[in-house]
Amino acid sequence: MKSISVFCGSSNGLKAIYSSKARELGQTLANEGIRVVYGGAKIGLMGKVAEGALDNDGEVFGVIPTFLQSKEIAHDALTKMFEVDTMHQRKTKMHELSDAIITLPGGFGTMEEFFEILTWGQLGLHTKPMGLLNIDGFYDPLIDQLDTMVRNELLKPVNRNMVMIDDDVTNLLVKMKSYQSPSVKKWITDQET
Ligand code: AMP
Repeated sequence: MKSISVFCGSSNGLKAIYSSKARELGQTLANEGIRVVYGGAKIGLMGKVAEGALDNDGEVFGVIPTFLQSKEIAHDALTKMFEVDTMHQRKTKMHELSDAIITLPGGFGTMEEFFEILTWGQLGLHTKPMGLLNIDGFYDPLIDQLDTMVRNELLKPVNRNMVMIDDDVTNLLVKMKSYQSPSVKKWITDQET
């Protein structure tokens, strides 16, 4: 992994541990020589990831839509900033620039990015490892929901297992490094071939 996209909240969230872990993720990626790709904002957990990497001489690429530059306060000290026109272009650009994805706590925007990249993986459009940093149990209910989907046969276990989960940054990276993408594509079953 040379370059990782990070999806996370544009808010800081209630608990200080969200910010400290976001910073730690940026720092760890910098120390491992892995470039951070993110939404380019200075605010919220997004800003914390960027600061953690920049303060440790890491490379950080931001991708921000023009209309969000003032709202999300574009970071002015990144290695490189890509300005795009739409939210869709932002996700596509972040995808092009990275070979793995990590999701931290966030809201609707974070969830939208997380599930879209998962669905692309499920369809076999990419084979990138996708990690969920489950800081202080934030994503426990979401993980339960994924398991509910599997129990109710609306999600295949092989696709459920595409999500690497850990509450520790280093352990999550270890899991992601050994990730094997599913060999079965969602829409092709043995019966159908
Ligand atoms: P949130 O988790 O709602 O705080 O949002 C986190 C980040 O996701 C912010 O930078 C949002 O601008 C971004 N975001 C929200 N919706 C989308 C979308 N449809 N495509 C790309 N980024 C989005």
